[in-house]
Amino acid sequence: MTKYNEITCKTACNKITSFLPYGWDLNIYRGCGHHCKYCFALYSHKYMNSSDFFDEIFVKTNIAESLEKQLRSKSWKREVINLGGVTDSYQPAEEKYKLMPEVLKVLIKYKTPVTISTKSKLILRDYDLIDELSKVTSVNIACTITTVNETVRELIEPNTATSAEKFNVLKEFAKTNASIGLHSMPVIPHLTDSFYNISALFSKSQECGVNYIITDLLNLRGQTRIVFFEFIKNKLPHLYNKISSLYKTSFVDKSYRDNFKQMAKKLKIQYPLKNKKRIFMHEEYVSSPEQLSLF
Ligand code: SF4
Repeated sequence: MTKYNEITCKTACNKITSFLPYGWDLNIYRGCGHHCKYCFALYSHKYMNSSDFFDEIFVKTNIAESLEKQLRSKSWKREVINLGGVTDSYQPAEEKYKLMPEVLKVLIKYKTPVTISTKSKLILRDYDLIDELSKVTSVNIACTITTVNETVRELIEPNTATSAEKFNVLKEFAKTNASIGLHSMPVIPHLTDSFYNISALFSKSQECGVNYIITDLLNLRGQTRIVFFEFIKNKLPHLYNKISSLYKTSFVDKSYRDNFKQMAKKLKIQYPLKNKKRIFMHEEYVSSPEQLSLF
């Protein structure tokens, strides 16, 4: 049973100092009810154990008010905000708290560019607000879709929307002014890395009018490694030796990575994307699908 803790925050957006293509991060929730077995965010929450992270969610109830304070400040430069960089803004808690519509109204008022990445179809609830925002500033909507096999998806990310529902989200937002992306990551060796799966993800993205695709392989750092291998041992024990032999460190074996990179390059050529919309991000970082890809 999920426990919700309501808290207040002093600052809505935190400055990003890494190479990522946006200036600020805004996370409404700490912890995430999607329960992904490869959750990268566990790594950045070293102080929490995994069951706390998935089952005890902290809710920043004053987020919209706090955001408005930040955006109306004279020092705010209207840089891009990444909504939900650490945890999904449309995770199950959002059905109950409905904080995103308030956040979106503030972003519309201050014409602030955003990128939103989600694994939930709940984002469709806010379609009109996101459409309105995309008419006054730059908006990027991305879905993380890892597999077209529903049995596998249910195992590795049990509380997310089905992959078909996520593709539908992309298809719907392709009708707005927002640019649309597929985050095909993390690719899990021996589980979601087949040519059939990755090419199906590329092909469906093309059908949905996606403007860019980012693909990357699983990284296993800190707590993420412990949770992931515990899951493999329990649910897919026949894969344990195969996968663990590729992860002597937190990153996948180099020759495996090089082979995967070659496959991803071929698929990019096979499934060219329509890039009619300007892919919005910090211009100094990215401007084309080619540059956006991690490969
Ligand atoms: S949606 Fe993201 S933050 Fe939430 S459990 Fe999955 S990987 Fe972790």
